[in-house]
Amino acid sequence: MNRMEERPAAPVQPAPPSGTPAPSAPPSTPLLATPPVAPPAVPPPVAPSCAPPAAPPGARLVLATRNPGKLAELRAILAPLVPGLAPEAIISAAALDAPAPVESGLTFAANARIKARALAEASGLPAVADDSGLCVDVLGGAPGVFSARWCGRHGDDDANLRLLLAQIADVADEHRGARFTCAAVLVRPGAADDLVVERSMEGRILRSPRGGGGFGYDPVFVPAAEDAPGGAGRTTAQMSAREKNAISHRGRAFRALAPALVELLAA
Ligand code: IMP
Repeated sequence: MNRMEERPAAPVQPAPPSGTPAPSAPPSTPLLATPPVAPPAVPPPVAPSCAPPAAPPGARLVLATRNPGKLAELRAILAPLVPGLAPEAIISAAALDAPAPVESGLTFAANARIKARALAEASGLPAVADDSGLCVDVLGGAPGVFSARWCGRHGDDDANLRLLLAQIADVADEHRGARFTCAAVLVRPGAADDLVVERSMEGRILRSPRGGGGFGYDPVFVPAAEDAPGGAGRTTAQMSAREKNAISHRGRAFRALAPALVELLAA
């Protein structure tokens, strides 16, 4: 789960009092034959707008992430499915400068929903959000939605991974099963229901890290397909982004959402 900071609200400028009479001239001022020249009009200070952030022209779908990699991943999945899809039709939350909500849910789907709803409301556009994490069998599904901050700090991938390895250090190889899970949600403004899909990538946790690619827990995760006969036994950190995408929880979840997105973008 990705907990993003909340932005403090911008201070509101006080508007000038309206209808305040202009100060009258002091009694000692001599009367002039010609009317005094009015000072140039000073525009009143403008209070910051509370209107939702405007979507750039051409935008038709917004993805609740500030991660350019995720945006590229969704565009790459949809491009072959929606012929002629303009790149500017799918934008990320970064293009809107919308405040990020607190991800207070206890499931991947709940958190993805919180993010997608907030963005659809702020932008007036259909919004897609995802939330993912690692679920380890012997830990009862943990770290789960706490994957990004398992060590107590958000986003410290190295510390998260080391803590996990320490926690299951004495667990036998055959009991080190785990899966990455991703929930992806599409929220259409005004629609009665949200579309929620959840997909996983099964695998197991190694005893020490291997590979320099990927992120998070990738260096200790071997997907089941790599363990199967004929598999090379690589971790997801040893696979190319394209290879991982083809079998990953996120790739699968976005592809499951694709038909609804195709319908939406083709309309
Ligand atoms: P997010 O919801 O996609 O931001 O993922 C939350 C956390 O789950 C990340 O910070 C990682 O710790 C973990 N995670 C999710 N997906 C992956 C993955 O594909 N590889 C490795 N770690 C992942």
